[in-house]
Order: sequence, then structure tokens, then C-alpha cells
Amino acid sequence: MFVKGLKCRECGKEYPDSPLYVCDYCFGPLEVDYDYDKIKKEITIDKIKSREPNMWRYQELLPIKGEITIGKNVGYTPLVKADNLAKALGVKKLYVKNDSVNFPTLSFKDRVVSVAVAKAKEFGFKIVACASTGNLANSVAALTASAGYESYVFIPSNLEIGKVLGTLIYDTNLIKINGSYDRVNRLCTEIAGKHDWAFVNINLRPYYAEGSKSLTFEMIEQLGFKVPDNIVVPMAGGSLITKVGKAIDEFEYCGLLKEKPKTKIFGAQAKGCNPITAAVKEKREFIKPVRTPNTIAKSLAIGNPADGYYASDLMNKTGGYGEDVTDEEIVEGMKLLASTEGIFTETAGGVTVAVAKKLIDKGYINKSETTVLAITGNGLKTLEALTGKLKEPATIEPNLEEFEKVLAKIREKK
Ligand SMILES: *Cc1c(COP(=O)(O)O)cnc(C)c1O
Ligand SMILES: [Zn+2]
Repeated sequence: MFVKGLKCRECGKEYPDSPLYVCDYCFGPLEVDYDYDKIKKEITIDKIKSREPNMWRYQELLPIKGEITIGKNVGYTPLVKADNLAKALGVKKLYVKNDSVNFPTLSFKDRVVSVAVAKAKEFGFKIVACASTGNLANSVAALTASAGYESYVFIPSNLEIGKVLGTLIYDTNLIKINGSYDRVNRLCTEIAGKHDWAFVNINLRPYYAEGSKSLTFEMIEQLGFKVPDNIVVPMAGGSLITKVGKAIDEFEYCGLLKEKPKTKIFGAQAKGCNPITAAVKEKREFIKPVRTPNTIAKSLAIGNPADGYYASDLMNKTGGYGEDVTDEEIVEGMKLLASTEGIFTETAGGVTVAVAKKLIDKGYINKSETTVLAITGNGLKTLEALTGKLKEPATIEPNLEEFEKVLAKIREKK
């Protein structure tokens, strides 16, 4: 166990390893603080490679004590060399980190929830809860079911049916709130103050966020312990993208990188909820919250992002950028990834692909460099977004003559 405790990101005040998330001195967010010198001596490429193919193969850099008992099959998703998509976008080398097939609930959220539930267990909580835009709900419900915990899940009332049924199936206590995610989150902060529950993304947020790093650790390992020139990451609260930066820094400090990192980190949002990319594009220091998010990318619809400032700072510092896309572009992005690489991603993945295209077209991403797209969720969960947007199938009577007629028509169109 290499965790020293928690530390304020702003003033550096130190706290014990405990379910705290905000500095009582300056109100800054708390972050897990590790004994990096000790980790550096322990962690090696050979050691990592000898372990099971899941997110815990980087256990020294995750904040759990003792044996791993939660989410043991999470992570180690494919890094797909996306040559067809590369050709379509006009770039030389492109990869897709495909968390749309993460175990068990087909999104990157299984990584963060594994760490949070493991930590809830360590701290002795009896009930696990969350405020969610959809994928977190699925993941908390599933991982608490398998770990034997009672759970409460809070969502905005307008989510996709796949996200709702994909939560209820695990027999959690699901509560829909009439209001945006930001209202859900505010209510949950109040509930967390009254009930002694483990809210994975509130009082356990510093630990939860650490789970995100595993996506980047895996990507680096899958590239042969090398980092890409560019990575494009979808942003909701801005946590995942900040942990891309932290993961690269940690691997470098621990001597696990074959070359000096120079990755430019790019953030992606929907135009209908773009508080972070707007700040980057307008060169603003502060994040202006979006009051009424309106986009089909509901999983990214956080109007007041907790890590927005750190996310925009990271894009600026690494030479990256932020871009946002319309709902039409999002659907085009989903279709493009599916038709070129055979990967069906949800609306958030459509955001990532469409933003990557825009960044390449505008010259922010260099066509001769290596780029990784973080595809974070599965298309079967957001089918509504495609209703009326795809070619209608032909319906025929079961005879050969009818089929030949349809075939002729299909070939005519080509
Ligand atoms: C939650 C989520 C993200 C990123 O969320 P952050 O709050 O920025 O960490 C990205 N993609 C999908 C599909 C998500 O559900
Ligand atoms: Zn502080």
C-alpha cells in the first residue's frame, strides 16, 4: 500500500486516507497522495506484464490496500489500430482505446467504480450511492450487486431507456430527479451530508478519480510503453482527462516510459453542453457553467464540471485544445466509427470521433503524428440517438423473386 493520504490540490494541506473530498482550509479538491519514491522502487515493466490482464495490473498506482476483491475483471480493453478510420480522417497513425467493451457494463465508468467500491469496503461503509448521467448508474448498480452492497442511484429523469433499464436490472434503488445532472449532484451532496453513505463521485471522489488512470496506463502499455503524440478524450466533469495527464506523469516518474512524453491532450464536448471547451476556445481562466444542457450526448451533460478548471489548464499546458460538435456531427461520428472500424459507440464516442475530425481538419492535430481516441461507452445504450438516422432495411416476403428485386435495387444505388 503506497498511499500516504489525501492532499489539497490548491494549498497542499494533507489529510489522512479517509472519505474526505474538499479541503476545510481553502475548499480546494483533495487528491490521493502516494509515496512515489517507494512505488518507483517496486513497479517494473516485467512485474506489470506478469499480472492478469485487468486494470489492477498497475496496483501500485491505485489507492487500494491489500487483496483486490472488487472489479477483478475490469479493464484491459482493446487498443484497436484504426487504419480505416485513419484513412477516412486523413491521418497516418490512429488508435481507438475501446472502453465500449469494458466489463461489466460497457463503459469506462467500471474503472472508477471498482476503485470507489473497493475503497467503500475498506472504509466500512454499508451503502454505496452515486449521482449519474447514466453510465455511472449502470456501473454502480452492477458492481454493488456483485459485491453484495445495498445501493442508491440518482439520475436526471430524462435519460435514455438503455441507461435506465440497464441500471434497474441489477435491482438497485434507482431514483429519478426532475432536473438536470447539476441539480441531481447538488441534492446528492446534501444527502451525503445527512446519511453515512459512500457516494462514489462525491465523498469518495478522490479515490474514484484514480481509477480513470488505468485507461491511460493500459494504452501506454499497449503501445509498447510509449505515449502517443495526441490523445482525444471526452469530458463531462473533466475528471478522466485530468487523470490522463496524471497517469502519463506517474509512468514517467517511475521510469516506465521508453521515451520522454510529449503528448498533447485534447478535450471533446457537445456544443449543447460545452463549459470546458468554451473556456479553452475563449482563452478564459474560469469555467462558465451551462445552465440548461441540451444535447443527445447525455452522458457528458454536466453543466458545472467539478474538474473543469484543471481540465482546461491541462489542455493548454500540453499544447492540446478543446473542441465541441453539434448533435448532427455526433451522429455522423458514431456512424463513421461503426462503418470504418466495426465499433458501435454511444453518443459520447460520437463526440470524440467528430471532435477528432474537426481538430484534424483545422490543423490542431498533425496528420503525420500518432493519435489515440478514447472511446468510452457503448452504442447499444443510446439507441434513441439513431432513430430515423439510418438507412431503413428492406422488408420482403420470403421468396427468391422478391429478394432478387431488392438486390437489383441495392446494386442500382451503388
Ligand atoms: C462519465 C463519462 C465520461 C467522462 O466523464 P468525466 O466526468 O469527464 O470523467 C466520458 N465518456 C462517458 C461515456 C462517460 O460516461
Ligand atoms: Zn486547501
